[in-house]
Amino acid sequence: MSEISTDIAILGSGMVGMALAYQLNERYPELLITVIDKEPEIGKHSSGRNSGVLHAGIYYPPGTLKAQVCVQGARRLLAWCEAEGLPVLACGKVIAPQSAELDGQLELLLERGRANGAVVRLIDEHEFSQRVPDGRTASGRALWSPDTCVIKPKVVLQRLAQRLRERGVQFVMGAGVKDVNPEAHQLSFAQAGSRSCTITYGHLFNATGLQADRVARAFGVGEHCILLPFKGLYWQLHPQAPFHFTTNLYPVPDLNVPFLGVHVTPSPDGTVSLGPTAIPAWGRENYRGLEGIEPKMALAFLGDLASQWWRNAGGFRRYAREQALHGLKPLFLKAAQALVPGLRSEHLIPSQKVGIRAQLYDRRLGTLVQDFRLEQGPASTHVLNAISPAFTASFALADLIIDQSSLFPN
Ligand SMILES: Cc1cc2nc3c(=O)[nH]c(=O)nc-3n(C[C@H](O)[C@H](O)[C@H](O)COP(=O)(O)OP(=O)(O)OC[C@H]3O[C@@H](n4cnc5c(N)ncnc54)[C@H](O)[C@@H]3O)c2cc1C
Repeated sequence: MSEISTDIAILGSGMVGMALAYQLNERYPELLITVIDKEPEIGKHSSGRNSGVLHAGIYYPPGTLKAQVCVQGARRLLAWCEAEGLPVLACGKVIAPQSAELDGQLELLLERGRANGAVVRLIDEHEFSQRVPDGRTASGRALWSPDTCVIKPKVVLQRLAQRLRERGVQFVMGAGVKDVNPEAHQLSFAQAGSRSCTITYGHLFNATGLQADRVARAFGVGEHCILLPFKGLYWQLHPQAPFHFTTNLYPVPDLNVPFLGVHVTPSPDGTVSLGPTAIPAWGRENYRGLEGIEPKMALAFLGDLASQWWRNAGGFRRYAREQALHGLKPLFLKAAQALVPGLRSEHLIPSQKVGIRAQLYDRRLGTLVQDFRLEQGPASTHVLNAISPAFTASFALADLIIDQSSLFPN
């Protein structure tokens, strides 16, 4: 049995946890920081399994936390990746309506983007076809975001972990939390080989992504909230497919739900991905087949979905029906053809990439929570709903989390 004492314990070595460690170390280099993760390796969950898009800050209603941190966060992460010499594809993004009635949303997105400080403008059909010759806009108009980039998420995570270690941040990996004692500021873990370890901390940050609500509840926080896992499956464009994508192509999203829709994303390594879907997963880590299925959670999830279905707020029924069907290749193809009409089944090859969104559901309000949510507990801060664009925003989000924590009163 070993014992560790630390000023700051960060649970979770995803992008949010590591960005917190980085910003805390920048601001308070004298603090001893310990990052703890149940997995033996970095990047096993959302941060290592996403689209890798550094979002430009267009979608989010002004005044939300997302709007507050996305633009700055993207600029800071891009500058950091460039300074580190990491691969970045500065390819921009086009957002196109996939049906004529969605055209009106372009103005709303334009206004939001500008209010948030993003660079964005409307383009006509001529410019659209120059930027995305293989794409389609249903209304002859689209939005152009020159600042959107694509990075390699796992490469970013690995370099960040390396820099943190060099700065003296400790990592305890493969450490599953067994017990929490908030009053005594203590956690105990079982590590590989059943070695037991106790950590005493001054303040704890819970950045455990898909498990954040469960950890928060152990601290008496977020009792009425539950994370619902939505699976994101991707396809890859066949290298011989007759298309040439040099920029991201996104649909106009349904702004009633926190997902951006199936999109086309080129990567710095030359591959082009299509996806992700947003279909219910039957376990928080149910990436493939029966792996990670949680029957009790799945039943409760069905209950929450049924309640959303019944309320049908924001046209949930239509949305859920469409999304559930995207798990089938022909229907995924149909959704993708709304953006890329020449796409055929043989152009799509299965991608190894699959991610699960840690989407917070507020049972009291009966709604999917759209914004990031931060909750304070005893000597602890809990990051609930670290959904997209938390990777993009991570450096600025970390500053906001630190400022809102009770750690350093103003
Ligand atoms: C399909 C998909 C596509 C996305 N695309 C984008 C995108 O293009 N751009 C963007 O900005 N964002 C995107 N996102 C969102 C982004 O990936 C997440 O917002 C971000 O990665 C969240 O980071 P995190 O650190 O909170 O969570 P995670 O990366 O999930 O990290 C949480 C960590 O906590 C650990 N953990 C869990 N429980 C415990 C415990 N009890 N004790 C110790 N450790 C624990 C886990 O092992 C994990 O390492 C996407 C997400 C998905 C799923």
